[in-house]
Amino acid sequence: MRISTITNWAYGVTVGLTLLAGGAFILSARSADFERRAVVESQVFNELSEQLAMAAEQTSEDARLFVMRGEDRHLQAFRGDEKGERDREQAIKSLKSAALSSREAALIQEVEQDGEALDALEERAVAAYTGGDQEGARQTLFGPEHERIQGDLLTSVRQFTDLVATRTSDALAEAKEWSDFWGAVAKSLLGLTAAVFLGVLYFVLRRRVAMPLMRMTGIVNRLAKQDYAVEVLPDSRRDEIGEMNDAIQIFRDNGLERERLDAERREDQRTKDLILQMMHRLQACQRQEELAEVVSLFAPQIFPNFAGHLYVMNDSRTALSSIGSWREPRRAGPALTSAECWALRRGRPHVSDAAAGDIPCQHLSHAEEMGICVPLSAQGDTVGLLYFEGASDGQAIAAARLYFELIAENIGLGVANLQLRDRLMGLAIRDGLTGLLNRRSLDEALNRIARDGAGDAIAIMADIDHFKRFNDEFGHDAGDEVMRRVSAILSGAVGDAGIVYRFGGEEFAILLTGASEDSALDLAEKLRTLIAATPVTYHGRLLGAVTISVGAASTARDAPSADLLLRADAALLNAKSKGRNRTIADWVERAASDRRRAV
Ligand code: GH3
Ligand code: MG
Ligand code: MG
Repeated sequence: MRISTITNWAYGVTVGLTLLAGGAFILSARSADFERRAVVESQVFNELSEQLAMAAEQTSEDARLFVMRGEDRHLQAFRGDEKGERDREQAIKSLKSAALSSREAALIQEVEQDGEALDALEERAVAAYTGGDQEGARQTLFGPEHERIQGDLLTSVRQFTDLVATRTSDALAEAKEWSDFWGAVAKSLLGLTAAVFLGVLYFVLRRRVAMPLMRMTGIVNRLAKQDYAVEVLPDSRRDEIGEMNDAIQIFRDNGLERERLDAERREDQRTKDLILQMMHRLQACQRQEELAEVVSLFAPQIFPNFAGHLYVMNDSRTALSSIGSWREPRRAGPALTSAECWALRRGRPHVSDAAAGDIPCQHLSHAEEMGICVPLSAQGDTVGLLYFEGASDGQAIAAARLYFELIAENIGLGVANLQLRDRLMGLAIRDGLTGLLNRRSLDEALNRIARDGAGDAIAIMADIDHFKRFNDEFGHDAGDEVMRRVSAILSGAVGDAGIVYRFGGEEFAILLTGASEDSALDLAEKLRTLIAATPVTYHGRLLGAVTISVGAASTARDAPSADLLLRADAALLNAKSKGRNRTIADWVERAASDRRRAV
């Protein structure tokens, strides 16, 4: 029930009870008044009856004195007592007009008759006396008849006063009873009114208002401090306090929702900031390893609930290998083929969600976990794959999907840029035909050696003998094939012992650091014999014997590094001039000439 309804009811009941109590007081007061009036009336009746008795006695006294003494003054008193008669008549009239009971009225009637009988008797006695019958008059006035009538009159008066006294005392008792009753009713009603008032005051003010208000004040204060964890208990009462409680509940729910949206916005902003940071760093990456490191560092920060892999396509473009991973993904391994991934096959993101009825990628295990593959592409070319896993339901993946695609786009561009950069770098430092490092790289390597002065270096120069013949006889393409084969043999045979460069035209340079002159000479001879022994075919045609002439020079024994290549080239020319398909070492020649000079 609403508090206003309760207070209205309480007000109405209190007013009603107060009015009833007032009425009871009035009734009680009226009973007291009635009591008073009964007393006054009984006094009046007593006085009147007293007056009657006294008037009768006075008249009899005057008549008796006259017949006894014969004095005129007594006759005159008897005759002249008109006032007494008037009073008696007046008293009788007053009594008759009063509300008397029938018994009382009858007694008054008897008093009146006795009075009249007494008057007639006394009148007769006085007349007899004045007529001379003195004895008869005395006998009449002192005789039994007069005695009886006077006695009757006095008895009637006494009975009347007794009746009046009894009636008055009954009326008094009854009036007192009623007065006490209404007084008690009035007091009870007043007590009830006070109890209702105090009860309502306690119930409404303390139970229904004060206590809930104090509780709500505490809640509102906490809400004001944005402490939305405060619990607002549901209040089923349909009153103002209940409505206030509902309003506070709504206020708290709104606050919680606002807080959730704020947190979501902050989280979103944090994600965007991290993505931006990652993009900036991706743009500055110079190598694929750096890019993998950046992605592996930022991806778990951007998506704290996801593990993942960054795969790049290998040169064959059929397989991918992981170059970076984070949070130890369970479902995906470090390698996969393009055919195993639905995202790569379809060229768009694919969520492996068996529970949702979609087909999972074949390169994934543990089908109960969710995973999403996002192809990395740039300018229509797929360069890799970004993989995330870890969400148990599709909601989290759906929520983050846009961001997955956004960063995949950027990582794809980054990977493609680095690959392009690698290709451009390769073009700048490598020879396109043979894949060997070019002369520029050789110059840089020689400069490094000259600058660092780290140990002895040996340069081997090799030139294909009569190469022009291949071009002339079999065409330029066949010449190119000879060049590729020779460079492959050189690279394979040198291996980690040194680096092979294409010096220019059909001429190669091999740079060895930390090798002895003898082992270098052995290697040079090995290369020459290997090439001479390897038949070269082009489109099924044997191209004839391919031989090389080799010249070698060293920085050992204080030989300068500045003219290392010149000395090796000179040795090569020497080999050419001595008939080709041979190896000449600069240091061997110099040792021989030194020996000759010494001889
Ligand atoms: P020599 O034994 O004295 O070294 O005789 P050679 O014929 O090998 O030497 P020469 O300098 O007379 O000829 C080299 C030729 O190699 C000239 C050039 O056309 C050819 N040549 C240089 N670079 C290439 C190339 O990349 N591909 C082809 N097919 N031919 C090349
Ligand atoms: Mg040549
Ligand atoms: Mg040449």
